[in-house]
Amino acid sequence: MSGPKIKLHKGDLPAGLTFPKGVAIDTETLGLKPHRDRLCLVQLSGGDGTAHLVQFDGKSYEAPRLKALLADAATLKIFHFARFDVAVLQQYLGVTTGPLYCTKIASKLARTYTDRHGLKDLVGELLGIEISKQQQSSDWAAANLSDSQKAYAANDVLHLHEIKTKLDAMLARSDRQELAESAFSFLPTRARLDLAGFEDDDIFAH
Ligand code: MN
Repeated sequence: MSGPKIKLHKGDLPAGLTFPKGVAIDTETLGLKPHRDRLCLVQLSGGDGTAHLVQFDGKSYEAPRLKALLADAATLKIFHFARFDVAVLQQYLGVTTGPLYCTKIASKLARTYTDRHGLKDLVGELLGIEISKQQQSSDWAAANLSDSQKAYAANDVLHLHEIKTKLDAMLARSDRQELAESAFSFLPTRARLDLAGFEDDDIFAH
C-alpha cells in the first residue's frame, strides 16, 4: 500500500489547486495562545490522499492564494476543533474562514454515548485507523521540518473528509444536522471572542 502524498510549500499554496469536495484544514503553532504563539504551518487536503503543507517563516503572512481559499464562500472548510484554528487564521492571516464544518462539534452532537471526541478517538472508532499524536508538541518553527513532523501534520487532515461522512450519517440519525450547521456558523464569532479575551468565559452562562 502506498502512503499519503505530502507536498511542502513555502509561504502560500501553489497556483491551480482546487478542492471540489471541500478542504480539510489544520494548523500548527508554537503553542495554544494565538497572541503569543505564532502560526507555523497550515495543512490542507482535498480528501484525495494528498496533504499540502504551507510553511510560514514568521516574517511574511501574505499568502494571497491561501487567504482567498479560506474566505471562498463556495468551498467548505473542514476542521477538527475549528475554534482554535479559525482564531489563529484570523490573527495571523487577517481572514475570517468560512463556510465551516467542525468534526469535534459534530462528534459532540452525534456521539453522546462517549466523552472521547479527540481526533485520535474519531479516527480510531469511525475509521479503524490508529494515529499517533507523538509529534503534537514539537518545534513547529523549525526551518526544516522532520519527516515525522510532516507525517504527523499530514495525518491531521488526511482523514477529516471520511470522518465527516460518518458523522453526517450519525447527525442525520438523530436529526441534528441543522443544529450542527447553526453551531458551525457561530464559530467565527466564538473565535473572535477568544481573541478579544473572553476565551474562558461562556457569555451565555447565567
Ligand atoms: Mn494538528
